[in-house]
Amino acid sequence: MCWRCNQLSRRSLLAGGGIAAASLATGVAQARIKPAEMVPLIGPGFKPTDKDEIGLWQQMVRVEEEIAGSNLLIDDPQLNQYLKNLIGRVGGPAAQDFRIYLAHIPEFNAVMFPTGFAVIFSGLLLRMRNEAQLAGVIAHESGHFLRRHMIRSWRDMRRKSDLFAIGAMVAGVAGAGVGINTGNFVRLAEFGTLLSLFQYSRELEAEADAIGATLIEQAGYPPMQMADVWQQLIGEERASAAYRRKRRDRGYSLFATHPAPESRMADLRADAAEVTVAGKAYDDHRARYLDRIAAIRPMLLDDQVKLNDPGASQYLIETLAQDGWNGLLRFNEGEVWRLRNRKGDDVRAAQSYAAAVVYPDAPADAWRWHGITLMKAGRSAEAKQAFARYLTMKPDAPDAAWVRQMMG
Ligand SMILES: [Zn+2]
Repeated sequence: MCWRCNQLSRRSLLAGGGIAAASLATGVAQARIKPAEMVPLIGPGFKPTDKDEIGLWQQMVRVEEEIAGSNLLIDDPQLNQYLKNLIGRVGGPAAQDFRIYLAHIPEFNAVMFPTGFAVIFSGLLLRMRNEAQLAGVIAHESGHFLRRHMIRSWRDMRRKSDLFAIGAMVAGVAGAGVGINTGNFVRLAEFGTLLSLFQYSRELEAEADAIGATLIEQAGYPPMQMADVWQQLIGEERASAAYRRKRRDRGYSLFATHPAPESRMADLRADAAEVTVAGKAYDDHRARYLDRIAAIRPMLLDDQVKLNDPGASQYLIETLAQDGWNGLLRFNEGEVWRLRNRKGDDVRAAQSYAAAVVYPDAPADAWRWHGITLMKAGRSAEAKQAFARYLTMKPDAPDAAWVRQMMG
């Protein structure tokens, strides 16, 4: 169900435990699934009629109630309406039945539940460079619903496993829903258990990719953007792993144990090429996307930087900056260096803050840190100017008294 369930982060993997580990073993290469063969199996207003699927729906109705009431959701009516409109455009025949929730979780993920509601993680919005990429992920999730993947893998699993394991899993899902409601990051472990249920075979992921490519093409987005999302994910995982290995000598990464992403990306590129109509004008709607997420982008970057995963954070910031540097990105680049705190990082951070304040959108904290680094360098006159700017922008800052003291 989820965009990167075969690529669960270490955090989610640990939380998901044995179930996650078991499904990681799947993923054998096979013939590519072609977009033209992927017809939706569900129309508008779908309701299950089989006993087992009805039971599963009842569980999921409870999970949705918990999620809908969770304080992990980002309460931004405009942004939520934007996401609802987007799934309405790329959700295929069931588009009008879908619900979509935006959870404040700084991970690259999105999940579609079998009753037709999707949870978008805020970390996903940080990583999307335009609306077409986001539409691609949402269309992929819709594809899981339209192809009835949940019940198909559920039945498959039941054939293979004993009933006790399945019972435990259902109990885990219900429990996970309850956990989310009490909600903060501490409860992510329970959410991980929930996510572990949504890991599909390589084949079902390929189906969702194929149908997703068709759906975004029909909505006028360049289909190749879906493959670009995957490429960005691969780059980020590599950057993160490379840093961790050096730093902690772990000798283990999900990436190393799961070499599928390259083949999945190759298939996505083939899907996109197949559905692209020559001469048709596509629009990735980057400006509109950046405008819609502008209000929460500082928070998204702050969440990411605080994960203390400098390899991934730096890769991400540089990737986003391919569409143009600005004060917000430069400031967060400085924060990555400052929090990493290796030899020479103080100088790197100072350079980033100095670069940030050149832009009109530099956040107040960029001026604050610029002032502090200038002060440390003995350039107190310039430091005072930077602090003055900070206080003008943020007169009620909690540290305003301390900054005034620094200014003498
Ligand atoms: Zn998926």
